[in-house]
Amino acid sequence: MMAEHFPGPVEWTASPSSNTGDGQLMAQEVGVQLDHMDQALIMGTTPVMYEGQLQGQPAADYFLPHSMIVNRHGRRFVNEKQMNVGLAFAEKNPETGTPAHLPAWRIYDAQFSKKYPHALPKKSVPGNYFKADTLKELAAQIDVDANGLEQTAQRFSEFARKGVDDDYGRGGSVWDRNRGGDPGHRPNPTLGTIEQAPFYAMPFKASFLGTKGGARTNERAEVLDQNDVPIPGLYAAGNVMANSFGSKGVGAGTTLGPCLTWGYIAGLNAASA
Ligand SMILES: Cc1cc2nc3c(=O)[nH]c(=O)nc-3n(C[C@H](O)[C@H](O)[C@H](O)COP(=O)(O)OP(=O)(O)OC[C@H]3O[C@@H](n4cnc5c(N)ncnc54)[C@H](O)[C@@H]3O)c2cc1C
Repeated sequence: MMAEHFPGPVEWTASPSSNTGDGQLMAQEVGVQLDHMDQALIMGTTPVMYEGQLQGQPAADYFLPHSMIVNRHGRRFVNEKQMNVGLAFAEKNPETGTPAHLPAWRIYDAQFSKKYPHALPKKSVPGNYFKADTLKELAAQIDVDANGLEQTAQRFSEFARKGVDDDYGRGGSVWDRNRGGDPGHRPNPTLGTIEQAPFYAMPFKASFLGTKGGARTNERAEVLDQNDVPIPGLYAAGNVMANSFGSKGVGAGTTLGPCLTWGYIAGLNAASA
């Protein structure tokens, strides 16, 4: 299902390894409409070894000052701090259907590693943590355009000094300034220069926390067949149903909110059927 709906390399996911879409498959077997299958909860994760395999752990490092995310051209493409960062990673090249901005990299400098060591992985997974004395050398290690990376770091540092991100508005909203940045950092709690060696890079891969695709339901949480007709006695809630928000995040609990609400609606209607 990943290959069909999210073509492109996926080295690890952040969802439990036992969640492999059984609910979606069972729904399909009884003629249910699946929807939003190309949508997911996507965010940055740090790879850790868990139960003998790579597992993504939600990361907060790219929220902090002295860090940015770039693509293979060494260019930023998103406000790293915003709620919907996952949408930029889900964006596909319309011609090839493959991720438009991946591979992407989190870039840090020495100021970051000194101030926020807690945000870096305690034990790095091979191939997922790079360090160099110059941005040029770092770019060569991770196969990113060196001039692009140097120019971006310079531009980003200018934004950090004045406290305004002219390109993507990072740190410009109340949400940005109050969630996960460094409250003591001035003039903007999410922007810090990237200019002191050594420099660090970690990949920002498509990091799936869970699907937003599944059975279509009506407002009573009844599951719909291909003709939009409710299947008697079949209800769905949670990750197994087509999430009403899709990939878009609308605030904390974007996923759990609908899961719980739909569970409540499904329970009430099933009990009174
Ligand atoms: C690391 C991480 C962080 C997250 N953070 C947030 C957050 O901050 N805010 C937010 O809103 N959402 C967050 N989410 C998403 C949220 O946790 C999920 O959307 C939610 O837990 C889904 O609930 P669910 O009951 O639908 O599915 P699950 O909680 O996945 O439950 C499904 C259950 O079904 C079981 N199962 C699977 N197959 C079978 C089978 N064949 N037979 C019987 N049982 C089976 C599974 O073992 C599992 O226990 C996060 C998710 C992850 C992975």
